[in-house]
Amino acid sequence: MKKLLIIISILWVSVACTSQADKQNKAITKSINEFAIIIHGGAGTILKKNMSAEKEAAYKEKLTEAIKTGYEILKNGGTSTAAVMKTIQVMEESPLFNAGKGAVFTHDETNELDASFMDGKTLNAGAVAGVKDVKSPIELAIKVMTDSDHVMLSGDGASTFAKEKGLEIVDPSYFFTENRFKTLQRIKHKQQTALDHDAKKVAFYDADIKNAKFGTVGCVALDKNGNIAAGTSTGGMTNKRWGRIGDAPIIGSGTYANNKTCGVSSTGWGEYFIRSQVAYDISAQMEYQQKTLKDATQNVIQEKLTKLGGTGGVVALDKNGHMSFEFNTAGMYRASMDDKGNLVVKIYKE
Ligand code: ASP
Repeated sequence: MKKLLIIISILWVSVACTSQADKQNKAITKSINEFAIIIHGGAGTILKKNMSAEKEAAYKEKLTEAIKTGYEILKNGGTSTAAVMKTIQVMEESPLFNAGKGAVFTHDETNELDASFMDGKTLNAGAVAGVKDVKSPIELAIKVMTDSDHVMLSGDGASTFAKEKGLEIVDPSYFFTENRFKTLQRIKHKQQTALDHDAKKVAFYDADIKNAKFGTVGCVALDKNGNIAAGTSTGGMTNKRWGRIGDAPIIGSGTYANNKTCGVSSTGWGEYFIRSQVAYDISAQMEYQQKTLKDATQNVIQEKLTKLGGTGGVVALDKNGHMSFEFNTAGMYRASMDDKGNLVVKIYKE
């Protein structure tokens, strides 16, 4: 009798576990959008109390324009690659974001741009770092993927490649914006003042930088053929020195895409995103632990990244069109559109 009871309870537990796993698998495999697109325009201490109504409207308008550009491409049967590139270019051309025009300044008062792109079908990727005169770093990253044997090019070499491929070259002054220049001066002044007082207490990334809005841009798209693409473009972090490169051009940190799992674009304090391999970790948790997109993004951002002391967020989209915004900062400029044309545009935590 005792034996029978034990057998019954074992059977019951295994049936319960199987149905739980079935439920989760169904959630993972059920397609909810034939195509979809999700974007960010940076995460950070973005608080409503510090934002004017005009500024808020300007951000929302630009995010809407950018995402609709990609949405139209996808709706008309275009590729996720085209959608990601065109969407990011709208934000690169806007001085509102820290990418392309509007990029933050380095310590030496230059703009050095980073970008990356990944194709989830082929797992091919392209990236550029420290570029100073190419108008669209995301376009260059895609060119590196399609027209070179390499994944990542940097500095002058990346510019030479861009020229050879006929990409638009601009005078470095194209990237100048008064606002970003003033931020650099303010931070440098603060740093100097701190240095004058106690050199030991000065961290390269002082609290001001840590709390500043970051403003990188990123996009992930799923097209009608089931292909996922992801891209990220940035000016990096204000006051960066010594050729510092962040996570944005690092495949697996700032950008990752795999048709088997998901696509991810990151924004935040790049050093932590590199150390955590944020974008790849989300995909890996889905692949090896069968986690849903929501669970994987939550674990990586709210638990792992936060525990390490990193700040920022991701936008992610899985092969079935589920979408996720996940961040541990006060806000993240963000938007999404599903295949029915439902648009979400948000800035603050809600
Ligand atoms: N992740 C970028 C970097 O560290 C900054 C950002 O997301 O705004 O370069």
